[in-house]
Amino acid sequence: MAAPRAAKAGGKTTSAGQAAGMPVVSSESMLALKRRARRINRALAEKYPYAHAELDFTNPFELLVATVLSAQTTDVTVNQVTKVLFARYPDARSLAEADPEDLELILKPTGFFRAKSRNVIALCTRLVDDFNGEVPGRLEDLVTLPGVGRKTANVVLGNGFGIPGVSVDTHFARLANRFGWTRSDDPVQIERDVAELFEPKDWTMLSHRVIFHGRRVCHARKPACGACPVANWCPSYGMGETDPVKAAKLLKYELASGNEALLEQLLAETHRAAEIRMESQKRTP
Ligand code: SF4
Repeated sequence: MAAPRAAKAGGKTTSAGQAAGMPVVSSESMLALKRRARRINRALAEKYPYAHAELDFTNPFELLVATVLSAQTTDVTVNQVTKVLFARYPDARSLAEADPEDLELILKPTGFFRAKSRNVIALCTRLVDDFNGEVPGRLEDLVTLPGVGRKTANVVLGNGFGIPGVSVDTHFARLANRFGWTRSDDPVQIERDVAELFEPKDWTMLSHRVIFHGRRVCHARKPACGACPVANWCPSYGMGETDPVKAAKLLKYELASGNEALLEQLLAETHRAAEIRMESQKRTP
């Protein structure tokens, strides 16, 4: 990888900032910050053309419940559990009337299953009582539902309804600070700061890409700076391993050594998805 020029492009980090995982960004004009942020987004889009919501769902209801269940567990576990859950309880009405013990048994692998079971029943009861069993498509309504905060609401709006939203989870919050896009650790403020830097049409995919990057490369404790596709524009370059060989060993999932076939498959499916979209556009009058 070429020597990163992040210090020029972005700002400076102090050792105190690096130690806390929060870079202290020097003054950078709003225009320069926007340009740099959009450059990072483009680089992430090139690196992860297959980035997507990692929870399986077929409608907004399934996405809402899956997102609520994803607290404190992995998306892989949630996907295994929701396959069973939605086969037995396919909608809000059936889940609102679910037997709590049966539900706890199904949700057990996700952890905190008693609380999650109570939350899911309360959530579905509200959907039935106040929204005719449907998931509302407005942020102001979604955040009134039990167990639904802004992050969940934005995930549901962006991916279930196609309404742009910046979804701030722990990965997004960490990376937005490392990129110098915000200086806040408050999710609502981070959402506002990042939304300022991008067009609304980019918010949903940006969220997926940043979260993908946080899971694979820019880890909380050991960021793989030496193998990072946005090192050139990141003011926090150097807070993690910069040796390319050592950094490559820190990469996860399809980027990890030995997983080249999986990466190929993901890239091939991305290209196929693009072909399918192009074909369908040709047929559209
Ligand atoms: S891995 Fe390093 S260079 Fe890449 S985004 Fe994270 S802190 Fe910046």
